[in-house]
Amino acid sequence: MRIDIITVLPELLESPFQHSILKRAQTKGLVEIHLHPLRDYSTNKHRTVDDYSYGGGAGMVMCIEPIAKCIDKLKSERTYDEIIYMSPDGEMLDQKMSNQLSTLKNIIILCGHYKGVDERVREHLVTREISIGNYVLSGGELAAAVVCDSIIRLLPGVLNDETSALFDSFQDGMIAPPAYTRPADFNGWKVPDVLLSGNEKEIDKWRHEKALERTKQRRPDLL
Ligand code: SAH
Repeated sequence: MRIDIITVLPELLESPFQHSILKRAQTKGLVEIHLHPLRDYSTNKHRTVDDYSYGGGAGMVMCIEPIAKCIDKLKSERTYDEIIYMSPDGEMLDQKMSNQLSTLKNIIILCGHYKGVDERVREHLVTREISIGNYVLSGGELAAAVVCDSIIRLLPGVLNDETSALFDSFQDGMIAPPAYTRPADFNGWKVPDVLLSGNEKEIDKWRHEKALERTKQRRPDLL
């Protein structure tokens, strides 16, 4: 999979991709991430990429020209399955969407800033808009990192234990059961006996019951 991210703040996105699972995925050649500083596509000598809002009002708007230039260049090099704009009023990201996105080959993610992008970018250049929640961030970079993380960990071969992503919350319409590790007794707070029993069938049954109980308690909307 290849992910191209268009941003005015590439520095903000460097660290998230340089550690742990996301780094390993790149080292293993399972995903390629390319950051494109939008200012490199600016059409003026001051390298600006935003301008005042027509009709007045507070806040700058990101211009269409540099965004179009960058997207055109990328599209001339390969075919993209989706051109995504991160936006608080987009489709809400969930596990189902991450699963679907993880099957794609090439995607572009456009990060907004300021008041967002010129509406014509949304009308003509992007194919999809994604929100990570009902709150407003100052830029699309952190949201893009969230989307990428949720997708990349699903790519076959990224997680060491191939099956572990399957048992995460939301994958089977339920949230994950509780997990414990050593010590079995901490200050008298004990790990449930069944988990120490070695009886796989009983353990699976217990985990399923707990997952169901938790989902009923915390996220009845999923059932
Ligand atoms: N004025 C806009 C918000 C702009 S916030 C509005 O009211 O809708 C600046 C940029 O941050 C956006 O262009 C978008 O790319 C990003 N952003 C902010 N909140 C986000 C969210 N919840 N999900 C995804 N991207 C978000």
